[in-house]
Order: sequence, then structure tokens, then C-alpha cells
Amino acid sequence: MGNSELADKAARLIENPGPLSIVQAGDPVLRQKTAHYDGQLDDDVLQRLIARMRETMEQTHNAVGLAAPQVGLPLRLAVLATPEKISARLIESGQQPVPFTVLVNPSYTAAGRGRAANFEGCLSVSGWQAAVNRPERINVTREDETGRRLVEEQAGFVARIVQHESDHLDGTLYLDRAELRSLSTTDQVAQRWGGAGLAAAAEQLGFRLP
Ligand code: ZN
Repeated sequence: MGNSELADKAARLIENPGPLSIVQAGDPVLRQKTAHYDGQLDDDVLQRLIARMRETMEQTHNAVGLAAPQVGLPLRLAVLATPEKISARLIESGQQPVPFTVLVNPSYTAAGRGRAANFEGCLSVSGWQAAVNRPERINVTREDETGRRLVEEQAGFVARIVQHESDHLDGTLYLDRAELRSLSTTDQVAQRWGGAGLAAAAEQLGFRLP
């Protein structure tokens, strides 16, 4: 998509009020490499687009992130945050909730050799979850919504979301990295593995943990 097409598509997305519709797996836009953000959008359009992505994420049950290709825009932009229920769970497990964060041109590398697995879902793979083994700590380079460049080290849940969302910007879905034998519907994860945990899921479904 050229720069003028990107700008036109973004303008169309913010034209009407309400949550944006989410592209589902099978749409090639989820498999494309996205354009580095380089001022292709007027700042006003960028800010409105971020607000609409935030609204879309917040109105979706338990969503923790949304990348621009998921609303049909192949641009290196994503948002993340933890809703109240998930924030409470994170605090219980000794982790920090994630405040609303904008990732512009993010990239990450593993920090150390530690790996961790957990169930992930994706708004673009509606109804399914699978365990994904990822680096536990990462170094992240990104810009924020004002163009400020940031270098951060992230760990735990936030590191997982940053990896999932950044992967979207490279045309990668979490299923590409998942333990496929862990594939479960969202209902099955809630009924069986929410309480019993990942080790029980690994044993009974027959997949490996790091
Ligand atoms: Zn996703």
C-alpha cells in the first residue's frame, strides 16, 4: 500500500463513529509486512486513529492489544493496555498492570535466554487460544504517539503482549509460534485451563513447555 493509499484508508477508518471492525485470519492484510510510520498521516488523523483503536480494544471483552493490520491498515502501529479484570489478576501474581501504551515502529530482541509459555488469543483468530513459548524478557525499541523514541526492557505479561502485537506488524500471527497441540477454544481454556493451569494442559493435551 502506497503512502496516499495508507492516508486514504486511515481517513476512511475514522470517518464514522463506533468501534472499528476487526479483520479475521485469512485476510492477506494480516500477512503483509507493514510500512514504517514516517509521518504518512497528518498528526490529527494519527491521534484520531489511535483513539479509535483504543476504543475498539476497550470495547472488546478482555482484549489487551490491537495492531493496525487488524483494522485493515498495514502500518507499524499498535496499542495495548490491560482491562480491569486482567490488571487485578496480574497484581495478584506480582506483576504490574499495563497502562494504555502506543507502539509506533516497535521492534524487540530477547533479553537473556529465559523462555515462558502461556495461552494467547487474538481478536483476528476469534474463538481460539493456544500456548505460545516466547522470550520471557525483551528489549523493546519504539516511538510513542508524540514521536518520542523509547528503549525499554519488558518482562512477563507486558513482554508477551508487546511481542504478540509487534509480530502482527511483520505479518506473523501467534499461531505461527504456538504449540499447536494446545489449540483450545476460548470456552475450553476458561473451563479447564484457567484454574488447572498450563502444566495440566501440557500434560493432558500433549504439548511441551519450556
Ligand atoms: Zn493478535
